[in-house]
Amino acid sequence: MADDNKTPLDTISKIKALRKKELSTDALVQGIFDGNKAMLAKAITLLESKRVDHSEKANAVIEKCLSRPTNSIRLGITGVPGVGKSSFIETLGKTLTDKGNKVAVLAVDPTSSLSKGSILGDKTRMETLAKDPNAFIRPSPSGTSLGGVAQKTRESIMLCEAAGYNVILVETVGVGQSEIAVHSMVDFFLLLKLSGAGDELQGIKRGIMEMADAIAINKADGSNLEHAELAMTEFSRALHLYPPKVNGWTPKVMKCSAVENTGIKDIWDMVQDFVEHNKENGFFEKNRQQQNKNWFLQTVDECIRQFFHQKETFKTEQAKLLAEIEEHKISPFYAAKLLLDKITKEL
Ligand code: GDP
Repeated sequence: MADDNKTPLDTISKIKALRKKELSTDALVQGIFDGNKAMLAKAITLLESKRVDHSEKANAVIEKCLSRPTNSIRLGITGVPGVGKSSFIETLGKTLTDKGNKVAVLAVDPTSSLSKGSILGDKTRMETLAKDPNAFIRPSPSGTSLGGVAQKTRESIMLCEAAGYNVILVETVGVGQSEIAVHSMVDFFLLLKLSGAGDELQGIKRGIMEMADAIAINKADGSNLEHAELAMTEFSRALHLYPPKVNGWTPKVMKCSAVENTGIKDIWDMVQDFVEHNKENGFFEKNRQQQNKNWFLQTVDECIRQFFHQKETFKTEQAKLLAEIEEHKISPFYAAKLLLDKITKEL
């Protein structure tokens, strides 16, 4: 909480000063436990770094942070660009901090390395929230693979929770498989939609309806209100066609206006109902345990992949076999076996 009375400028200059300074693992952990935003940002920068010594230090920090009990809600938010994600997060975030919550906003944007800077979670998109002492906004980590980006976001969630953030909002624009990645790291998954000229279900990505715990029709204001109500009926009908969720929750369809701040509180009340419902039936904890196990398995896979790929023999043999495949000298499957045989012999 040490930073709570500071202005954003204080925080920014502190972050700049800290960037230059090497801090011990214990100092970082203590800073995070104190709710110091600059220290939290520094720890996230370490875990996002490609340097081995940085990631080792970040791992040590995360391990120590795990000792701290937390009581958070992790909410995933997706929707096409322009649907109003940042406006929604800004309004919801402000409503929550006004009630005494600490809100962290993270983003998973697999295109951020291509566009040289994230299009999500950008501070300029959430100006009011960015100035709020009880909010922490972090743009998407950049990375070459969605798996890598997602893993860093998961680790950042843990650090934010250790720093006392009890509401974690994870935003994604839904490029490629990023919705699946975010779904696998949150307790509740919210799909933001716009009402259109009738055929609301058109163009909706396969699988996204199954993942959603709720659909909120945003921009339900002015002349759009009537369209929004029609869209709600259409989505409710469509949701009925899906099999019930294992946790017994029936996905809800709501409407809201991020700009006029209507319906936002109802959505939050619904999220809380969901959490209560899932805590009662044990699914909340079970889901997090399952997510932890999946993260472990995915991380192991990624480490194995990296371990092999960085070996010189792997690179040269792979290039040789690729040429043989091109010349139809060998089948791709047998080539894969030969490559693995060669590498494992070296171990
Ligand atoms: P994002 O790309 O999904 O993050 O969308 P933004 O939050 O940047 O919003 C895109 C545009 O829609 C902006 O011009 C917003 O002002 C506008 N907008 C967002 N929410 C609402 C809303 O509830 N009602 C109306 N009328 N406009 C909105």
